[in-house]
Amino acid sequence: MKSAYLYLLLLLFVVPAIAQEASDMAELEEQKYLFNSYKAASDKYYNEGNYKKSLESNIEMLKIALKINDPYYKHIGYRFLAYDYLAIEDTLAARENFAKSEKYALEAKNDTATAYMYMDLANLYSTLDYDYKKAMDNHNKSVSLLNKIKDSVNLAKAHYNIVLTAFEAKEYNLGYAHLLRAKRLNKFYNHKAYDVGLASLTGEYYYYKENYELSEKYLRMAIEAALKDSLFVELEESYSLLSESLFMQAKYEEAFEARDAYEMYSTKNLKSTIFPETDEMSAKFQVEEYRKDIQAAETENYLQGQIVKNKSKLNTVLIIVSICISFLLLVLFFAFRKRKELVAELQIKNSEYLLAKEETERLSKAKRDFFSTVSHELRTPLYGVIGLSTLLLEDESLKTHTKDLKSLKFSADYLLALINDVLHINKIESNTVEDEKAYFNIRELIRTIVTSFEYMRIQNNNTFHVEIEKDIPELIRGNSVRLSQILMNLIGNACKFTERGNIFVIASLKQLNDKEATITFSIRDTGIGIAKAKQESIFEEFAQGGSLNYNYQGSGLGLPIVKKLLALSNSEIKLESEIGQGTSLSFDLKYEIMNTAHIEEKPEILDTKALKDKKILIVEDNRINQTVTRKILEREGVVCDIAENGLIALNKVKVYDYHLILMDINMPVKNGLDATREIREFNKDIPILALTAVEVDEMRFKIHDSGMNDIIVKPYDISIFTQTILKHLSGTASEEKPDISKLKAI
Ligand code: ADP
Repeated sequence: MKSAYLYLLLLLFVVPAIAQEASDMAELEEQKYLFNSYKAASDKYYNEGNYKKSLESNIEMLKIALKINDPYYKHIGYRFLAYDYLAIEDTLAARENFAKSEKYALEAKNDTATAYMYMDLANLYSTLDYDYKKAMDNHNKSVSLLNKIKDSVNLAKAHYNIVLTAFEAKEYNLGYAHLLRAKRLNKFYNHKAYDVGLASLTGEYYYYKENYELSEKYLRMAIEAALKDSLFVELEESYSLLSESLFMQAKYEEAFEARDAYEMYSTKNLKSTIFPETDEMSAKFQVEEYRKDIQAAETENYLQGQIVKNKSKLNTVLIIVSICISFLLLVLFFAFRKRKELVAELQIKNSEYLLAKEETERLSKAKRDFFSTVSHELRTPLYGVIGLSTLLLEDESLKTHTKDLKSLKFSADYLLALINDVLHINKIESNTVEDEKAYFNIRELIRTIVTSFEYMRIQNNNTFHVEIEKDIPELIRGNSVRLSQILMNLIGNACKFTERGNIFVIASLKQLNDKEATITFSIRDTGIGIAKAKQESIFEEFAQGGSLNYNYQGSGLGLPIVKKLLALSNSEIKLESEIGQGTSLSFDLKYEIMNTAHIEEKPEILDTKALKDKKILIVEDNRINQTVTRKILEREGVVCDIAENGLIALNKVKVYDYHLILMDINMPVKNGLDATREIREFNKDIPILALTAVEVDEMRFKIHDSGMNDIIVKPYDISIFTQTILKHLSGTASEEKPDISKLKAI
């Protein structure tokens, strides 16, 4: 685009300009040629004494000079005109034109023109003003300038003119000296009238010197040459002087003849001076016409000048405008290009951003999948370890190993808590924690949690004090899982960092109205306490590293999780602690309270006795987990059957009747989801509960979609486990099929 634009500019401005200039040059040359032709003609007529013709040529010459509009040419034009006026004795017009000639000579700043100017001034002072001194001054200036520029032709003329001035002032010797110089320079000039003039002047000189013979000789030479070339003015002057010379030599007859010739040429010359029309009036009129002609030419030249000026002004304006437009176009061009670049850059950035976003989403999904897999892989074996150690602890025959088994269970519990913490913090960070609200019994919840720390309590020889303000409503609605997590962490810490002391778990009413209760929970111990310097950092993730700890090594995740969970409920934890005195951690949580409208929602606390004699199929590939689940259920009097994978389960369900199925998800041969789908094809009613270590958030939809009724996450809280089973037991197991209680577990 840029080059095309420049090319256009070239076409618009440069090409026409070049063409114009070329034609201008040609025209100028033509004008100059014409000027010189008229100049030669004028010169010729002038020397012949035909001043009318000379004047006519001069006027044409001047018109061309005005057209050429060059000060040098104008100077020559006016100069020639001035001499013509001088010849016809119109001194006023002559002076006027000499003044103009002078003006343009100065303007032309041309040495030849300046020398002419001095020469002309000298002639004026000499012929019109008779000021010999000023005339000679100007002659000298002219001569020195012509010498300087080595203009021999004009130098010859200058000396010739000095001779005239000097003779006029009767300075004959000086005049003769210049006459000799003029003769020496004659070879450069080589002009007929000039030759004649020199001879005539020599004759004149001898006449003044009273050497009439020599005078006659030179005058006759002049006349002879002048006759050849019809130089009538020279003839008039030479004959006049010759007649005088002859008269002085007493050659009277010849003197009269010369006088006659003089009279003849004088009359002839007068005629040409005042023009062929003998009428003086008409001659004056003619001159006046010429003057008007010149004035018209001058006016035209002036107007032309104005037009040229305006044209050049217009040109300047056009050039400025075109420069502005060019600049604007260039700016627009660059702005357009810049914008294009920016848009392209933006597009690249956008696609990069989209790629980065996709990559982030992919990574985040990979992270979620990873945690899901890891949680499953870790929880499944832990479920076995915890379950088995629980069962072994209850085995009377292993009494001697109780201490070791307790250690084993503690370690497994600790490991599970750690895994749960890591998973949980990840969930909070990825904003996938759901705020699940349900009614729960706060007294029961606190008691269950405290009970779960029984082992630790005994180990550190502590005493629990649970104080729940009696005005706190029996049932409250809120996120019980979140509260459990917080309390487990805080009570766990109190147990860990206290020995032979007291642990207080206190719930008090901070505020109560018809709809809501704000409860202050505080967990206080009389343990080792926390140093002031450490009190802030313990709420930061992984700040635990490098600390001197009591007997326990912790992950340092407990308190940061508590802080984050409370933040989800718009609450925060308060810590008061003194080294050696103990620690108090407290927080407020707001719960909805039961009103009459909610009575229907009141959850039934189901009696576990209802489990007795119920037939349940445990579908599970892990042998340890099979045993753990079976043992837990058998404690409640459940009759258990076991299927190692989905296919076996499917076949068993076809043959036997069960009250409920506990279905693992990940199994070889046929997984839990496929097995459930196929069972549902012929049995729509039997409750199937997913029993899985898989993180359920991702799996929940798939599990329900396959036709299962509920989900129990491993490792589970036994009471939640039994309650969930009870909730789904219909007690409608058909009696027509063989009774599995009579069968041996596979
Ligand atoms: P962890 O218990 O796994 O180390 P926490 O975040 O639960 O991680 O606790 C961080 C640290 O705060 C503990 O290691 C301990 O130094 C200090 N701490 C927490 N609770 C108590 C307490 N009740 N008494 C004394 N120190 C405590």
